[in-house]
Amino acid sequence: MTAQRRPLIAGNWKMNGLRATAMPLAGELATKMNNADDAFFDMLVCPPATLLEAVNDLALETNLAVGGQDCHMNTSGAHTGDISAEMLKDMGCAYVIVGHSERRADHAESDEVVKSKAEAALAAGLIAIVCVGETEAERDKGITIDVVAAQILGSLPEGATAANTVAAYEPVWAIGTGRTPTSDEVQEVHAMMRKTLAEKIGADEADKMRLLYGGSVKPSNAVELMGLADVDGALVGGASLSHTDFWAIAESCPK
Ligand code: PEP
Repeated sequence: MTAQRRPLIAGNWKMNGLRATAMPLAGELATKMNNADDAFFDMLVCPPATLLEAVNDLALETNLAVGGQDCHMNTSGAHTGDISAEMLKDMGCAYVIVGHSERRADHAESDEVVKSKAEAALAAGLIAIVCVGETEAERDKGITIDVVAAQILGSLPEGATAANTVAAYEPVWAIGTGRTPTSDEVQEVHAMMRKTLAEKIGADEADKMRLLYGGSVKPSNAVELMGLADVDGALVGGASLSHTDFWAIAESCPK
């Protein structure tokens, strides 16, 4: 973390949430963000599509940002069940996650597909959160750095800048498992990502781009993870469903 990168704490609610529980959760976070005059981080929630409109309405004119969990690469057409980046923007979203490992695994999304989705996001005026991360087998083989570097290069949208793109390192084996890499391992990957980005988009943009860590982030490990030199926030799954845990993670970011 450096002064030039404002932390981003992003909650991925995945396929969780009905109005009865999700709206109070979003309401608590919006209120906390608005009362925190000196909030030194940006906060984002990514609800399931069914709640996007209601959460966007609630977050309107608050400092809580709302995003989608995925978007289609096309703007419209015969893609039953899909949502375009333009539709997310139209609804009030500011961000969209692309390339989450659950999408890569469940929907066979390649780097090429993720890149197209990220480009659709940028074209619609959304900030793309591009996810990358190795599987446990890849880590065991000692190829984490190569795998993540290839994913970053393959998934980064054309025209990526620090203002329109965020990269999230999420080791697949750390998601929802309660396990995390060591701090040294996280920092090693993030430093490599920044170097790879510098070669691709220039050192200036790479230095300004926010790199999130995701995978079993919780209040008890957030201070250490958020304090790492090249970690600029978190992408949080399970713990984002509790406003107290999510807020505690946000407050763990160095000021
Ligand atoms: C995620 O799905 O992006 C994630 C990081 O999940 P969790 O925090 O539950 O590991």
